[in-house]
Amino acid sequence: MIEKDYICIICPLSCDLHLTDDNGELTVTGNTCKRGEMYAKSEYTNPVRMVTTTVTLENGLCPLLPVISSDMVPKSKFRECFDLIYNTKVVAPIKEGDVVIPDILGTGVDIVSAKSVVSKMS
Ligand code: SF4
Repeated sequence: MIEKDYICIICPLSCDLHLTDDNGELTVTGNTCKRGEMYAKSEYTNPVRMVTTTVTLENGLCPLLPVISSDMVPKSKFRECFDLIYNTKVVAPIKEGDVVIPDILGTGVDIVSAKSVVSKMS
């Protein structure tokens, strides 16, 4: 049997979750609501996170553009994901919400601009 402990981050109550894997049968205790059970099982089987970082920005008033993922990305893809993002350059002007990298690594998730930046010439 495998046992794991998590702190639920879904709401401020921060319940202490305990997950057991008994030959593939997952059981969660310590959760106050169903969302905690789902969170623990997701953390165990396929943890996901939002991506927030920056990409190189050319022709803008600042050298970096903050970007965010349009949805959660599997943590198992983070290394490849950040390699791709850090090798991406965009050129100002750019608007908040513009897609910087569509469907990153075939996840169905876009990396989008988190702010608008005018060009140096504007
Ligand atoms: S288990 Fe439910 S009540 Fe507890 S922290 Fe998670 S979401 Fe909040």
